[in-house]
Amino acid sequence: YPVERIRNFSIIAHIDHGKSTLADRLLEITDTIPRDKSNKQVLDKLQVERERGITVKAQTASLIYNYKGEDYLLNLIDTPGHVDFNYEVSRSLAACQGVVLLVDANQGVQAQTVANFYMAFESNLVIIPVLNKIDLKGAQPDIVTQQMKTLFDIDPHTVHKISAKAGTGVEELLHTVIEDIPPPNGSREAVTRALLFDSTYDQYKGVVGYFSIIDGMLTKGNKITSYHNKKTYEIQDLGFMHPLEEPTNSLYAGQVGYIICNMRNAKEAQVGDTYYLQNTEVQPLPGFKAAKPMVFAGIYPSDQSEFNSLRNAIEKLTLNDASVSVHIDSSPALGQGFRLGYLGLLHMDVFSQRLEQEHNASVITSCPNVPYKIKIKGAKNIKKFTTDEITILNPCHLPDKQMIVEMSEPVVTGTILMPDDYIGDVTSLCLERRGEIIDQSYIDNKRIMIKLQLPLNEILIDFYDELKSLTSGYASFDYEDAGYKVSTLVKVDFLINNKAVDELSIICHTSRARVIAKNVCIKLTESIPKQLFTISVQGAVGGKILARQDIKALRKDVLAKCYGGDITRKEKLLKRQAEGKKKMRKIGKVEIPKDAFINALKR
Ligand code: GDP
Ligand code: MG
Repeated sequence: YPVERIRNFSIIAHIDHGKSTLADRLLEITDTIPRDKSNKQVLDKLQVERERGITVKAQTASLIYNYKGEDYLLNLIDTPGHVDFNYEVSRSLAACQGVVLLVDANQGVQAQTVANFYMAFESNLVIIPVLNKIDLKGAQPDIVTQQMKTLFDIDPHTVHKISAKAGTGVEELLHTVIEDIPPPNGSREAVTRALLFDSTYDQYKGVVGYFSIIDGMLTKGNKITSYHNKKTYEIQDLGFMHPLEEPTNSLYAGQVGYIICNMRNAKEAQVGDTYYLQNTEVQPLPGFKAAKPMVFAGIYPSDQSEFNSLRNAIEKLTLNDASVSVHIDSSPALGQGFRLGYLGLLHMDVFSQRLEQEHNASVITSCPNVPYKIKIKGAKNIKKFTTDEITILNPCHLPDKQMIVEMSEPVVTGTILMPDDYIGDVTSLCLERRGEIIDQSYIDNKRIMIKLQLPLNEILIDFYDELKSLTSGYASFDYEDAGYKVSTLVKVDFLINNKAVDELSIICHTSRARVIAKNVCIKLTESIPKQLFTISVQGAVGGKILARQDIKALRKDVLAKCYGGDITRKEKLLKRQAEGKKKMRKIGKVEIPKDAFINALKR
């Protein structure tokens, strides 16, 4: 396939608007997979994706399609829709010349549609607007094309109307992809350069790198050098994603594929790195903007003896998710562990689940928090500080009050789209979360778009759920980083049986300390099972107790009464109990379930 007959494009859209379903149809039309009614989101290969019904990884598939008598190579990237995985989308766009922008004809333009449109628009990509789900009874094609006109200045006549589910209009869409999206501008004759855009760890093959060949070509046996670490590797195997790995002899400019080159260490594969043929000279490719983790949480092995295998698992999984940052951390109650940085709470959830499912690690995650910037008085005279401003990733590292000059917290610019009936309730919710509305405008005669600034801390846990329930599911929300803002914050500590539990400490706005302390105490009493003695749970700021709840003791005779007699049943129960214990952590004498930490923060 000469470069002129190659097209690289992504499908982008709000969550559930049909990206993965459209990818299924494109795979079928091009006979990449058999036409079969049971094909459902075939590119969502991870267990977590199938269980949750969402895409979390951008997936590439190379398709071959005959158009006007010529074969074209189409490199399709299916992307995630949720804001937490925007990093996957932005990386995908860097490898494309165009996008298919899907909008659900029933739901209309949503917050992620706006975010995704601007991502593609700012990257100067060709945007092919598409209305999906026109088969639905509630489809409102005229209203939705009007929204696209108002928001994005898209000419209604250029909007494709399709049903990804039924396949209607999909073939015509494919023709537009070939006609309107330009081929990549690399050259086969130029000195070889390849961009590493993703990687994964395979138990049998080791590190598998996914490359976009920008210039020249690569063949089995070639020796390639990493621009980043200058190490040289020999290509052992390479091929296309079709959509499963399919070996071939060479990959040429404009093509996308996998390469296995016995990289030993997972850390060597750096996403965004340029690879070139040994002993040639090249300019490095621009690579990607580094991801900026904004949510930090401790992660600990359920059992200290598993620390090394957890480290291994994290190393392998970060290979497939370069947006996670890793720092070593330790805690008096939970032992040796890590502090990981994520792009959001769903991302954190998905990463922990993948650690368990794909790498067999059993982990405890502590309360998540955002990073804080702290200005310190006379830092030069204090040994442990080298600068006057530090960033803390863990609330228990907050310096003493007397040393602090000023604290700042991260803020975001949020976008909310919703029917105007809910404006009153949503405004109150935003104010309650310390939000400031910057702008609001109608996108059609019923729906309104609000722009606002919010502290990230206030939307971390349950803002979206609350917004959804206030608006019967009709509101959508997206946000982007907007830097830091000075704020009055305090650290709330929690004590279990008078023992401070560091991993429960949280930083919050002064005005909210009491409510949060009470709330967390209640949540903890709900999630810590009764034990043989009374347990007290207290929330305090600087030694002053703000809230207290007790967990009453379990009556001792309960066990004896229930399980007397049948010995096998008793053994079974004891075994189950022992397994349950693995999921607990001991703080003093108190057993605490794994998920208590995160549950404690839900309002
Ligand atoms: P994604 O999150 O954008 O990848 O969306 P999915 O492809 O996972 O689809 C979300 C849901 O919408 C699934 O239940 C699909 O079956 C459904 N869906 C996708 N396209 C269509 C369509 O054209 N018509 C109808 N009725 N349902 C669709
Ligand atoms: Mg999907």
